[in-house]
Amino acid sequence: MSGFQTFLMVDWSGGNDRGPSPKADAIWAAVIREGRAEPSVYLRNRQCAEDWLLRFLAEELAAGRRVLAGFDFPFGYPAGFAAHLVGSGGPLALWDWLAAELHDSPSGNNRFELADRINAGLPGTGPFWFNASATDLAHLPRKGRDRAGHGLPEHRQCENLAKGAFSCWQLGGAGAVGSQALTGMASLSRIRAQLDGAVSVWPFQPAEAPIVLAEIWPSLFAAEIAALTQPEDIKDEVQVRHLAAKIAAWQGQGQLETALNAVPDLARTEEGWILGLNMDSAGLTPPRLKNDCFAMPQGVDWVPVAEALDRLRAGLVPVTLQETVPLAAARQRILAQGVTAPRSNPPMPNSAVDGYGFAHAATGSGVQRLPLVTGRAAAGQPFAGAVPAGQAVRILTGAILPEGVDTVVLEEDCATDGAVVVFDGPLKARSNTRKAGEDVVAGTEILPAGTRLRAPDIALLSAVGLQEVPVYRRLRVGVLSTGDEIVRKNAAPHQIYDANRPMLLSLAEGWGYEPVDLGHIRDDADLIRKRFDRAAQEADVILTSGGASAGDEDHVSRILRTSGTLSSWRIAVKPGRPLALALWQEVPVFGLPGNPVAALVCALIFARPALSALAGAGWTEPLGQMLPAAFSKRKKAGRREYLRARIGADGRVECFASEGSGRISGLSWATGLVELPDEAQEIAPGDPVRFLPYSSLGVS
Ligand code: AMP
Ligand code: MG
Repeated sequence: MSGFQTFLMVDWSGGNDRGPSPKADAIWAAVIREGRAEPSVYLRNRQCAEDWLLRFLAEELAAGRRVLAGFDFPFGYPAGFAAHLVGSGGPLALWDWLAAELHDSPSGNNRFELADRINAGLPGTGPFWFNASATDLAHLPRKGRDRAGHGLPEHRQCENLAKGAFSCWQLGGAGAVGSQALTGMASLSRIRAQLDGAVSVWPFQPAEAPIVLAEIWPSLFAAEIAALTQPEDIKDEVQVRHLAAKIAAWQGQGQLETALNAVPDLARTEEGWILGLNMDSAGLTPPRLKNDCFAMPQGVDWVPVAEALDRLRAGLVPVTLQETVPLAAARQRILAQGVTAPRSNPPMPNSAVDGYGFAHAATGSGVQRLPLVTGRAAAGQPFAGAVPAGQAVRILTGAILPEGVDTVVLEEDCATDGAVVVFDGPLKARSNTRKAGEDVVAGTEILPAGTRLRAPDIALLSAVGLQEVPVYRRLRVGVLSTGDEIVRKNAAPHQIYDANRPMLLSLAEGWGYEPVDLGHIRDDADLIRKRFDRAAQEADVILTSGGASAGDEDHVSRILRTSGTLSSWRIAVKPGRPLALALWQEVPVFGLPGNPVAALVCALIFARPALSALAGAGWTEPLGQMLPAAFSKRKKAGRREYLRARIGADGRVECFASEGSGRISGLSWATGLVELPDEAQEIAPGDPVRFLPYSSLGVS
């Protein structure tokens, strides 16, 4: 895509401007052309604005300048609305429909009547509301709360991210955008038709035409705009001026293309999207950790486990960008944004059983004999007509309740000869039926940001019609081993095989991250440094094992110290030695002990929740269970202990015979860890101890 030479930002206005005297804030347009801001243009009403826009855009077109034109009203409606009005024509057919149906002049317009007419064609009451005219309109409620059962979501996907955005169903009242949307889409439809072929509407069309129209939302920059606005300024004017500057700057910084591309499917096909909505959270640069995020206050000698965890928790934020993935690839991915249901589940009231449906009001107690109508209602095969009161229809599980049916009697409770169905009354009204939305109501949040998606979550997302979700990119976890004694094959007697790296890589993978094998390095400062440099490019977080203490051969901690950020945490935990924490070129490094048992315990207790926070899923704590011990043990006060353990056949927790921290066999024998508290404790068989199953630590 070649760039834009002109940025035009327009603050639209939805009300009736009866002119000719100018209103304080009718319509404002700000222009930045060839990098220079021009005086903002005041447009008295929509008709003036439409004329001016047409002239302006035609001139730019003739001059060969590409224009990005932003407008502060929704370019689309929540999922399902366009299809209702214009079938498969999509959002731009809806624009054309509005252009044909909305009559708009400075002396009046029919927006309330039109909204009333649209509402009348939809079930229930709404979705449009707010009637500013004196005359009551049968289908346009004056209050938002009087709406029900219209079946459309309250918000578009993008509005669920845009905190404080108004619903486009609201046609009036302070801050409402509904009237701006109706009138704006109609105007832009005409402009598009007249500049035939030169205009594309983002994100419904690729932003490639000479003129690109896009939706903007000044509130995205509310704080910046408030800071810029002087008492004598007109806010609308400041807004468009600031947005023009801001968006022009994005192009300069190479970020505009990202903003234009980072849009979910539903926005493209139907709902539209606010330009730049995802710039902060899904922009080019993920948030950085603070340089001192691992700092320990001076004079702290031994840190209790709980305090170490609190400190880690406080210093860590998500460090990855966002992307959109199809549900089929979404298991274990972490939602970057809360997800709102575009559709209710069930979408319509339906039958919970196989049986016979009828109107409850026409039945009573005693033996009921209802003639059967011809035909039946089955799942996926709705009954076409209405069922008269006093008659019944054959209905199967999952079938939509036909018109006239509110109650279903179970097949097993009936006798029938095919013409009449007989059963004992009374039945409770609405027996054996499911209400529309009794599971999920369209427009409500079904999963919050930070959710790590599991198979049942994927079922939920699928059931409401979603095919893809916004997630954090998979955290790349680099794993590095150090030590002169470690080799990959043909180990001599003084050499050993690397156990930690394969273990940590498979842990990372099991936790849902992308394992990045950074290999093994000899205890050589230069080599380690070079590997860290490479790792900082290839990984979002680095786990090392070995060489992390303060001894002669502890090269990892020595090198991390040169980055100036090393903090050696002497955690009161067994097994474990100092945990070396640092940033290497802004990438966090967790220096784990070399002993495999300590490496695993430290990875599970400290690295696992930390990685979860870095990945966007927030802090996590293992769910332990209190179980009777099958062992006796005496422990001193002052540090927390983790024992390799498993649940025996009698339901009691056994511990591995040796506590030696080189005993890898014990890690494999175990099915979890026993956590003994910091205080002194004397455990006798049968005493309750806290067991953390491997599964609660993500070990599988
Ligand atoms: P270090 O922390 O480097 O002093 O290592 C402590 C102990 O863990 C030594 O006995 C090392 O040989 C052993 N060790 C270090 N790294 C690994 C590894 N990747 N796999 C197996 N054992 C290791
Ligand atoms: Mg070593």
